[in-house]
Amino acid sequence: MTKNDHLAPSERPQFRIGHGYDLHRLEPLAPEGDGRPFVLGGLALEHDRGPVGHSDGDALLHAVTDALLASVCLPDIGELFPDTDPVHEGAASDRFLLEAVKRLASAAYTIENLDCTIILERPKVKPIKAALRENLARLLGVPVDRVNVKGKTHERVDAVGEGRAIEVHVVVLVRRIDAGGVR
Ligand code: MG
Repeated sequence: MTKNDHLAPSERPQFRIGHGYDLHRLEPLAPEGDGRPFVLGGLALEHDRGPVGHSDGDALLHAVTDALLASVCLPDIGELFPDTDPVHEGAASDRFLLEAVKRLASAAYTIENLDCTIILERPKVKPIKAALRENLARLLGVPVDRVNVKGKTHERVDAVGEGRAIEVHVVVLVRRIDAGGVR
């Protein structure tokens, strides 16, 4: 499944990292615009704009999903769940994340920790940070102290700074399960 499949399990890297990135346009909510209700990290947020996307447009869950898949060289979220597939139309993105968690376990790796950076003008991330961490930890099946979330603005510059887009970066460290990663 991974590049290291030719190696005996004990010879595979003990630790690996993965990076995930996502961006979604934020538009006025339908019917005025193409924006879907604003969902971030699986939480519904009050906002006059929302992400444009084939699924629910949850940029945080998409970036976490990609980081997990990338850590063990699996196909990315767009390859696994193409936006041409009507089955994912408007779908809640936890289904993508849960599939990535399952595939990570099948590759015999477990999450050590992850760090998420959300770049968003509004709503502010700070008041929802704890809830985002808790929900991510729940979906990932890890203690909350393994999950960090931080928010930044884009200093009013470019589309993100003008509130017309959201950007998310995620890095994850995973550990080989037979390297003491079983908890
Ligand atoms: Mg996306």
